[in-house]
Amino acid sequence: MDFETVIGLEVHVELKTDTKIFCGCRTNFGAPPNTNVCPVCLGLPGTLPVLNERAVDLALKAAMALNCRINREAKFDRKNYFYPDLPKGYQISQYDQPIGEDGYIEIDLGGQRKRIGIVRVHLEEDAGKSMHAPDGTHTLVDYNRTGVPLIEIVSKPDIRSPEEARLYLEALKSIMEYCDISDCRMEEGSLRCDANISLRPVGQEAFGQKTELKNMNSFRNVQRALEYEADRQAQILRAGGTIEQETRRFDEATQTTVSMRSKEEAHDYRYFPEPDLVRLHIDEAWLARIRATLPELPLQKRDRYIRELGLPEYDAGVLTANRAVAEYYEQVVAAGADAKQASNWVMSDLLGYLNTTGQSIDEAKVRPAQLAGLIAEVGSGRISIKQARDVFKAMCETGKDAPVLIKEMGMEQISDESVLIPIIEDVIAKNPKSVEDYRNGKEKALGALVGQTMKATQGKANPAVVNKLILERIRP
Ligand SMILES: [Zn+2]
Repeated sequence: MDFETVIGLEVHVELKTDTKIFCGCRTNFGAPPNTNVCPVCLGLPGTLPVLNERAVDLALKAAMALNCRINREAKFDRKNYFYPDLPKGYQISQYDQPIGEDGYIEIDLGGQRKRIGIVRVHLEEDAGKSMHAPDGTHTLVDYNRTGVPLIEIVSKPDIRSPEEARLYLEALKSIMEYCDISDCRMEEGSLRCDANISLRPVGQEAFGQKTELKNMNSFRNVQRALEYEADRQAQILRAGGTIEQETRRFDEATQTTVSMRSKEEAHDYRYFPEPDLVRLHIDEAWLARIRATLPELPLQKRDRYIRELGLPEYDAGVLTANRAVAEYYEQVVAAGADAKQASNWVMSDLLGYLNTTGQSIDEAKVRPAQLAGLIAEVGSGRISIKQARDVFKAMCETGKDAPVLIKEMGMEQISDESVLIPIIEDVIAKNPKSVEDYRNGKEKALGALVGQTMKATQGKANPAVVNKLILERIRP
């Protein structure tokens, strides 16, 4: 029996605000435990939440970038559950009136565009972090993360393979980074993903029983966990078994999924409206203000590079995957470089260099106008492409301009005829045999004379000029 895989993803993204969503505590990652806390985010009696407008701005921006319908009347609700990292005993979230609904993300499947629907984007507060002692004797709790603003992005079950899931996450992350909504550092937990996966016989409309996957700390692991889970479910179904509704976690060591809890332990959150916060009225002026801050999104940029700059699809994809890289590239072109030449330099030489040194593009010593300057030196024939690669490396290390380094590295080609003529006349005088051979029709003899001239100039003579000057003197 053949099965179709059905996947839906729930992604939590921490918003890039300076302070928490309902109090003035800082949100910086890595502060000493329980130092970014106050009575409000510790849930002490008698405190009241005050909404951070900046968090709403970023959630609205995200909902717009994800093509959602914005709810002009949004509200907050309490999601009740008990856990040590949740000091109030409830999380302030949004239940039936989230910020945005019914959007989509486009992914690129080998040149074909596919839309993955988004059910909703809602705003909520993050919980703290429990740290379990390895020997199981105790658990410590850090409340620094409590009250950090989050958005949850829930996809429709439109994803049909683990690979599509990874592409969706990459596209989502790229949009969040382009819009400066989140730093999306999975290793710091500012982007987290849970997945639902089920199988159904090909051709069947009704969904099969799904399982939920947690604890996947990289996009690669999301894909692996889903691949493992799709295989596991297929084996059970082929053997005539049934899938249990349960939550499973990915075990990185064994690359498998293992059961965490079954349906019986599922939460009943008893949502009700948050009485301490007023409803959100989002007017047209607010929407317009946010809309004006939306940048060109990755896929739009990619299409424009292909259409306007004539770049191959591959180049356009690589250059637009990261906003800082795309901006760097655009500045190289704006400084006068040919679009394709600039693309080659940025994709292979610059990104290659940054990759080996672990630098970010903002840290690169070669600024866009300097790279354009180097490309111009190659274009004018002053240095060869091979020499340019060495100059580029030196630029990366010193931050100096190409013309300066070309001089310092003694690479300048000699094109000045008044310098070359005495050298060439000397070579001709010393090689009468080659001159005679050439006059007798041996084309190769010209090469020998050019070679002698190059040798006499330590390879710096401009070969085209040398050729011309020799021919002028020995042509019969
Ligand atoms: Zn606080």
